[in-house]
This record gives sequence, structure tokens and C-alpha cells, in this order.
Amino acid sequence: MKCKICKGKAVIHLRQHNLALCKEHFIERFERETLRTIRKFKMFDKEEPVVVAVSGGKDSLGVLYLLHKHGYNVRGLYLDLGIHGGFGYSELSKRRVEEFAERYGVEVRIFTIQHDLGYTIPEMAEKRYEPRVCRVCGTLKRYYLNKIAHEMGATTVVTGHNLDDEVATLFGNTLRWDLSYLRRQAPLLPSTHPKLLKRAKPFVFFTEKETAMYAILNGIPYVREECPFSVGAKSILYKEVLNRIEEVSPGTKLRFYREFLRFMKEIRVPEEEQVELKECQVCGMPTVLEVCAVCRMKGVTVPLNPSDQ
Ligand code: SF4
Ligand SMILES: [Zn+2]
Ligand SMILES: [Zn+2]
Repeated sequence: MKCKICKGKAVIHLRQHNLALCKEHFIERFERETLRTIRKFKMFDKEEPVVVAVSGGKDSLGVLYLLHKHGYNVRGLYLDLGIHGGFGYSELSKRRVEEFAERYGVEVRIFTIQHDLGYTIPEMAEKRYEPRVCRVCGTLKRYYLNKIAHEMGATTVVTGHNLDDEVATLFGNTLRWDLSYLRRQAPLLPSTHPKLLKRAKPFVFFTEKETAMYAILNGIPYVREECPFSVGAKSILYKEVLNRIEEVSPGTKLRFYREFLRFMKEIRVPEEEQVELKECQVCGMPTVLEVCAVCRMKGVTVPLNPSDQ
């Protein structure tokens, strides 16, 4: 297989684009397309302080690498979730992140959730009798990423979600016709409160195969093991189904996602109908209730106003 541009040895064949590329031209295209996505969706500009949420995996470290290489004002943030799973998943991921930070001279803040929460993620799920650890984990990760990135002075939390992640979530949300989630599936979620950072996903148009190839070709050290709690997750089943369809009909995932983005304009909530966020009475972070989900999880109660007594 030869590179379509230079006729050199191709390292990848992108079936959805019917395009074979060598190492140099693949990296060049990948970076050009990422920068275009950032501009097209007005995610952030070069001077803006942004934080990449790094998990130690290929996608998030790939985004951090690319933004750092192209001179963005970027830092990383790693949340230590305290997940062991028989092989020290969180420890292993943290080591990869530290190795990355040292190798490329990128600042990465390590934040151990247990130090603030008093519990690791699995312990918190157990304490709440919640068999689905991912549900507790999702709420806590969203909260701490936003809170710590805000404390770091960032305007945006960047994540490494790729096309496979997005279409699997989209597929699940569509099967349930869950409009509230569908509305939140854009490549850029704007800020609706001064303490709620924008959320950007610059790799959203690349398949997992492409993001893995980008990390491998650049020699980025990343953790290959998956979180032990992801076993049996519905998203994995959806990915398998979508991969099967993609095999028979290349380009389906990309079309599904692009068409959704066009349709999204029609389901957007008008500004005047958007729920106004207040500040949590305990921690001060944005919430729709008096006390945010995480403070309630911690069991913190609202301090009584002396006049109420
Ligand atoms: S798979 Fe579940 S528990 Fe593991 S990091 Fe993801 S959301 Fe958290
Ligand atoms: Zn080439
Ligand atoms: Zn709170």
C-alpha cells in the first residue's frame, strides 16, 4: 500500500476516506484536521489557558502532545481515582502521565480525589450502595475536572473523546431518545456560568484507530489497559455493533455523527428556556439545586442560617 501523496510506504489506510498515508503525511493531516476542528467550533485560541483532562490513555495524552507541540497555552490535569482492579490501574495510569510530563516538559497537575472526598471512587460507590461504579465516577470526574481546572485559571477543559466514543454514546442516547443527553453531545459545550468551564473535544472526528496510530507514531507512552470497571459496559457493546456496520459500510460512523450535528441545531434549548445555574451553598460550584451532587454525596449539609433557628 502506497501513500496517496508521496507514494512512499503507507502506514495506515483510512477506509472511511479511501486514503492511504505514510507516517509523515498521516501526522501532518491529523494535526491539520485537529487545528481546523478547534478553529471551526471556536473551541479556544492559542493564548487562552486550557487544561487537558489526561487519563493516561492514547487519546488524552495525544491531545496534550499535539496542543503543546503547536504552542497552545496548555497544561494537563490527572485525577487519581484510586482504582486498583487487581493490577493497580490508577497507579499505572499515573506513572504514564508523569513519564509523559517529564519527557515533553509539560506541566501536569495530579489531583487525588480521595484526599478531598475521603474515599476512592470504588469506596464511594460502595458507601452509596451503588452497583454501577461508573455512575458515581462520572459525576465526580465532571465535578473535579471543572473545579480544579477553574482553580488553575483555565477557561476550557479539553478531553480526548474520539469518534468511536462519541458515536457509541450517540447510539445509546438515540436508542433511549434521551434528549437531555443528546443536547449535550456537541464537540464544544459553552460555558453557562462563570465557574463552569467550556468543554472541548478536538479529536471528535477521528476514529480510535487514528488516535492510536497518532500516539504510536509519535512514541507517546500511554497506558493500554482499560479501567477494570469498563468491562461489560453498554458502550463497549455499542462500539462492537458500530464497528461491524463500519466494516460493511465504511464511513457510517462519521456520517452518523456529522448528520447528528446538523440535526442538533433543531433540538437546542432556546437561551431563554435554559435552566439558570446557582452556586452550591457548600462548595460554591455551579449547580441547579441548593447543594451540588458532590457535596450531597459527601454528606455535607447546608449550614443553618442563624435567623432560621
Ligand atoms: S470505566 Fe467507569 S469507573 Fe472506570 S474511569 Fe470510566 S467511568 Fe470511571
Ligand atoms: Zn506520504
Ligand atoms: Zn457543592
